[in-house]
Amino acid sequence: MDLIPSFSVDHTKIIPGIFESRVDDIAGNKITTYDIRVTKPNVEPAVEVAAMHSLEHIIATFLRNDPDWKDDVIYWGPMGCLTGFYLILKSNRAPKEIVDLLIRAFDSVKDSEEVPGAEPENCGNSALHNLVMAKWYAKRFADYLISNKENDAIYVYPKTERLVTDDGRQFFDS
Ligand SMILES: [Zn+2]
Repeated sequence: MDLIPSFSVDHTKIIPGIFESRVDDIAGNKITTYDIRVTKPNVEPAVEVAAMHSLEHIIATFLRNDPDWKDDVIYWGPMGCLTGFYLILKSNRAPKEIVDLLIRAFDSVKDSEEVPGAEPENCGNSALHNLVMAKWYAKRFADYLISNKENDAIYVYPKTERLVTDDGRQFFDS
């Protein structure tokens, strides 16, 4: 069954938050991809690339070690546009059900004394890290999630018709 939604996200109206990007059914098991949008696309500057890379390492390490969630975490990684992250989890929870996890994850960055796995043996670009800026973005986003936890607008994407390219193909960005 084709579960790809026929809508696209209107990026001019996105605010930071936690959004369901897609739900896939693999052998009867649902897995959900979330967009964890950290900045407002095309309005705010995107996340500085070295800080983004450090946040990828620190939060992936947090999620994959969390005793309550590690078994459900399939993937954590940065968006190419540098405005947020993709999180893929087993099951199909509403975005609001994972807000506390993400608050804890981003809040944990302040306690990092170093970026885990940032040595050439473990990382493809070990010079590209910025822990100070990673802490700045992480605090800002954790504070934002805490203040907006009850605001439904941070969980629902503004939708528009999916873009069709000149040769009739549908456009996807992930
Ligand atoms: Zn790396």
